[in-house]
Amino acid sequence: MVNRPHQIVIVGGGAAGITVAATLHRKDKRLNIAIIEPSEKHYYQPGWTLVGAGVFDRKVTERDEKDFIPENAQWIKEYATRLLPDKNTVVLKSGEEITYEYLILCPGIQIDWHKIKGLEASIGKHGICSNYGYQFASYTYECIKNFNGGTALFTCPNTPVKCGGAAQKIMYLACDNFRKRGILNRADVRFTTAGGTLFGVKIFADALAKVVERYGIKTDWFHNLKEIRGDKKEAVFEIIKDGKPVEEVTIPYDMIHVTPPQSAPDFIKESPFANQKGWIDLDSTTLRHKQYTNVFGLGDASGTPNPKTAAAVRKQAPVVAENLLQVIKNGSLSKPSEYTGYGACPIITAYGRLILIEIDYTHNPVPTFPLNPARERYSMWLLKKYLLPWLYWNRMLRGKPC
Ligand SMILES: Cc1cc2nc3c(=O)[nH]c(=O)nc-3n(C[C@H](O)[C@H](O)[C@H](O)COP(=O)(O)OP(=O)(O)OC[C@H]3O[C@@H](n4cnc5c(N)ncnc54)[C@H](O)[C@@H]3O)c2cc1C
Repeated sequence: MVNRPHQIVIVGGGAAGITVAATLHRKDKRLNIAIIEPSEKHYYQPGWTLVGAGVFDRKVTERDEKDFIPENAQWIKEYATRLLPDKNTVVLKSGEEITYEYLILCPGIQIDWHKIKGLEASIGKHGICSNYGYQFASYTYECIKNFNGGTALFTCPNTPVKCGGAAQKIMYLACDNFRKRGILNRADVRFTTAGGTLFGVKIFADALAKVVERYGIKTDWFHNLKEIRGDKKEAVFEIIKDGKPVEEVTIPYDMIHVTPPQSAPDFIKESPFANQKGWIDLDSTTLRHKQYTNVFGLGDASGTPNPKTAAAVRKQAPVVAENLLQVIKNGSLSKPSEYTGYGACPIITAYGRLILIEIDYTHNPVPTFPLNPARERYSMWLLKKYLLPWLYWNRMLRGKPC
């Protein structure tokens, strides 16, 4: 078996992998970095909500991965399948082994489409859509545009998800579209969610409750989607009580937007790096692995209790880069750089309106701008539509401060 040694190996070349590689590269061009990433394309996933709302063409969210691999890094275009920390080795799908001195784990979150019976066979047709896949996001807009009254369901699962607000944003945009077309009064819009609240922080939950009321949305709490019968246009939910399913309800629909269940990638779950729930077991401040001191992690696969967002990655990548360089230089972390749990979720509430939710580990709002953070604003919509995509492609993925 071939064995290729590297100083730093990064698993995953998405938002987190490229940002941390570029940040390291800017700090020290002599580092020997390899990025294991199977995809030829890089996606700006936060743009998929606007694709689903008909604001962006999906093409604007896709670029060539090769254009973002820092010049000193080697791109290994492959899947990592096994992690062997006792041998400092990553095994690829081909069976090839890559050894490292330092490892950065950031393979993102796994979308478990298969956990909802009937979904894989019917997604992308018969009014079943999801913004959680590049290939499906444009169909969401088809469903919204072609909806002429009836029942529109927007689901949210009982697992952690990337961008917790994405299930709601597309619902509010759909309602605004229905309102503009004069059909909102003929629409039975339902937020069918496994959770019991609109948001875990009261001032934002209260602000979103007003939006829900304005559009006349019904909230079906503790409804966890289990099955979709595409031919009959029926969705089956289990009702959760005290953490357990107690009964089943079937709701007929005309369109359904699915936020699918998600989990840590299987090869992380099966590795010694996983915590009890399968996520990478990191110190939540230093982002260093709790047991393996030559290993760091960031992004959606991490077990840290922050919102799983690209905004979190923006703050995590410099922390990982600084702490890793300190360990390389001194062999220890005497003055660690600290991640405070920052994450942001721009909740679009209408075409042209947005509440910019920014919180940290304390669950208190940490607004970037000195404004009431719970207000819907046109300025924040402009930020989401124009400034954030530009910052992502031109600053964050280049390892520049942003
Ligand atoms: C609909 C939607 C809306 C969103 N809205 C927002 C928003 O408004 N604001 C915000 O900040 N965030 C938002 N996000 C979340 C944001 O996109 C993610 O949090 C961010 O991309 C996480 O970065 P990551 O690198 O951890 O994961 P990703 O960017 O998903 O990258 C993971 C990479 O790992 C690779 N990979 C997977 N398995 C392997 C393997 N076995 N071996 C090697 N490589 C592998 C993948 O190919 C991928 O390139 C949204 C996401 C979605 C889907």
